[in-house]
Amino acid sequence: TRLYGVCDYYDAESLLTADERRVLGRLRAFLDEKAKPLLADYWERGEFPDQLARPLIELDLMEPAELTTDRPARGIYQGFRIFELARTDASLATFYTAQAGLFRTAIRVGASAEQQAEWMPKVIDFSLKGVFSLTEPESGSDIAGGLATTARRETGPDGDTWVLDGAKRWIGGAATADVLAVFARDTADGQVKAFLVDRDAAGVTLEKIHRKTALRMMQNAHITLDAVRVPEARRLHNVNSFKDVAAMLRAMRSDVAWIATGIQAGAFEAALGYVTQRQQFGRPVGSFQLVQEKLARMLGNLTSSLSLVVRLTEQQDKGIYRDQDSALAKMQTSLLMRETVALAREVVGGNGITLDTDVARFHADAEAVYSYEGTHEINALIVGRALTGESAFTR
Ligand code: FAD
Repeated sequence: TRLYGVCDYYDAESLLTADERRVLGRLRAFLDEKAKPLLADYWERGEFPDQLARPLIELDLMEPAELTTDRPARGIYQGFRIFELARTDASLATFYTAQAGLFRTAIRVGASAEQQAEWMPKVIDFSLKGVFSLTEPESGSDIAGGLATTARRETGPDGDTWVLDGAKRWIGGAATADVLAVFARDTADGQVKAFLVDRDAAGVTLEKIHRKTALRMMQNAHITLDAVRVPEARRLHNVNSFKDVAAMLRAMRSDVAWIATGIQAGAFEAALGYVTQRQQFGRPVGSFQLVQEKLARMLGNLTSSLSLVVRLTEQQDKGIYRDQDSALAKMQTSLLMRETVALAREVVGGNGITLDTDVARFHADAEAVYSYEGTHEINALIVGRALTGESAFTR
């Protein structure tokens, strides 16, 4: 039997190996039994169900031991792992990709071989939990030029130390992380460098961002760095300018395109289930032509998105990584996601704005995914730059 049924209309899961399908099946069972019953309450309260974190980590999804000898469809497996999480809940997917995508990519791209040997095993088994701290209160889209957090190098008898000052905004998962990967501008050469800062280090203050109307379960932090001291050994030695940060973003945007696709699958499934049950005028609302047209559009959006991310991932598995490719995927899947969740919410009628039907959660959460990891406009401008050779968004 197929894992994704109608949500995977053209059978992309046939690209997975039997072992990969087995791991994803385990994830599905966990999400259905343990996670789904909690989602509406925790979303409403604006809290993350912490009891899910440890069992989710113990599912060993990042580098499952049983897949280490058989990896032909590695990227596709990772993509479907995100798809499965997002199809259940966007905060769960974001929680997982904060470590398995953002933080892991920061270490993979930014750390020296020696640092990777020390840290990567701990990143993979979650014994070193980290977050990606790039965005600032005054700089989001314009972070390359606007990054204002500073790093000043001090030479002392016990080796070099860096002193960090500034603020970071929107950082997902910071409250439960061990370390924060912080990007700061070297006061000597003006280039962006990266540091692993202990969450509890002197001078670090974390404040939860309250009153969110999207991704309410996922906790985001406002971080203040006041003369925070970091040893040179905790600097990511391969990050020497914003170009190295851009290489991280290029890899991470594909993950978000998979999230935007998974959200569509969750919303579509919930809507389809609802319209086959709900009766009006003596028949299921799914029997009306105008409703069926919306179902077909949702499925069209979802299938377009899934085909796009699968093809992108196949290219990346061949080693082809270009800024414009993942930017196009993030832009397009997010655009289609916005329409899909709106249509799902529409066919569920009034019940579509209560958390009881699932579509309300997907509908609200989609707005955060639409904006993070590069807004629609910024990703479009990355594509535009590649098409014309002209950057429309540099200072
Ligand atoms: P702004 O940059 O202020 O943009 C506002 C509007 O102006 C947007 O519509 C934008 O597209 C438009 N705009 C800006 N410049 C241009 C231009 N040149 N041309 C056309 N339009 C333009 N960051 C992290 O570092 N780590 C995280 O873990 C993280 N998690 C996040 C989680 C959530 C839920 C959210 C909402 C954000 C997260 N972010 C994180 C930050 C995220 O990456 C930024 O929100 C995003 O880059 C947009 O920046 P901004 O919100 O400051 O919007």
